Amino acid sequence: MKEVSIVVPCYNEAKGLQFFYNALNEILTTLPYRFHILFVNDGSSDRTWEIMEELRAGDPRVETLSLSRNFGKELAMLAGLDYADGAAVIIMDADLQDPPDLIPRMLALWEQGWQDVYARRRERRGESWLKRHSAGLYYRLLRRAANIDIPANVGDFRLLDRQAVDALCRLRERKRYTKGLFSWIGFRKKEIVFDRPPRAVGKTKWNYLKLCGLALDGLSSFSELPLRLASVFGLICSATAFLYMLFIFVRTLLYGDPVAGYPSLVCIILFIGGIQLIVLGIMGEYIGRIYSEAKHRPDYIISAYHGASEIADNVAGKERQA
Ligand code: UDP
Ligand code: MG
Repeated sequence: MKEVSIVVPCYNEAKGLQFFYNALNEILTTLPYRFHILFVNDGSSDRTWEIMEELRAGDPRVETLSLSRNFGKELAMLAGLDYADGAAVIIMDADLQDPPDLIPRMLALWEQGWQDVYARRRERRGESWLKRHSAGLYYRLLRRAANIDIPANVGDFRLLDRQAVDALCRLRERKRYTKGLFSWIGFRKKEIVFDRPPRAVGKTKWNYLKLCGLALDGLSSFSELPLRLASVFGLICSATAFLYMLFIFVRTLLYGDPVAGYPSLVCIILFIGGIQLIVLGIMGEYIGRIYSEAKHRPDYIISAYHGASEIADNVAGKERQA
């Protein structure tokens, strides 16, 4: 029987974890695979870890991995992928927004040879108008600015073949924009469409600030367009300044030089100053990325692992507890 790992990053999901497990279990028991359910505790501050351990005590398929603090979903997923041994790995959220009934379809497509079966949500129910529209706009921008095609309305809910998982695990960048990495690695991709239900219990861990941060990470890790825009700004500014200089020169020749123009001077100084700060900010964004990569810290720290992964031994710097 083929082994399939299910990776579930969880951050303060104590309330819903049991429901999630029940729903997942119902589907898995109907399928002819050897499943591993790997719960990744992303430094939760509630009883998430205790509940995971309870689930493990009652089900040999359950494995648990705990990060030493909250590293964010992107890194929790990476940890999960590192420790998942299956011939295929399914990543899903713990809040039942990724319906387990899609798993049989994903597995069927995997058997047909697709290596990355991802779920695209048809509509974003239970999300505000602002969130839906800003998301749409952002995906369009990203597709334009980045050199790779990142499909819109696709989350992290997907099945990855072993080859794709290994490829992802080789990409060790710290500020991960996993959505983009999925596209970057390539492989044979297949899309399935589903209606994303609202969160079962609890509330989303994302606020606009975090989402903006993720959006910026996506843009700066996949595109050099902002840097190029900085040069374009600079070019436009100096061209305008040059024309203005000619204008002043000619005007002075024709009409002499009465001292005036304090307001326009201030405007120009402020304008140029503003542009310079923006450009510095953009540069800072990229330098920050270089800095965080240059430190070569491990992507995450494990505080406990209860499972049987063989890869765990080979992942540099990650201790293993069985
Ligand atoms: N999550 C995580 N670490 C975090 C934030 C979220 O592991 O720092 C997990 C969370 O427990 C859930 C999944 O990532 O299983 C998706 O989070 P959420 O439902 O809050 O995001 P949304 O569905 O609103 O995009
Ligand atoms: Mg959710």
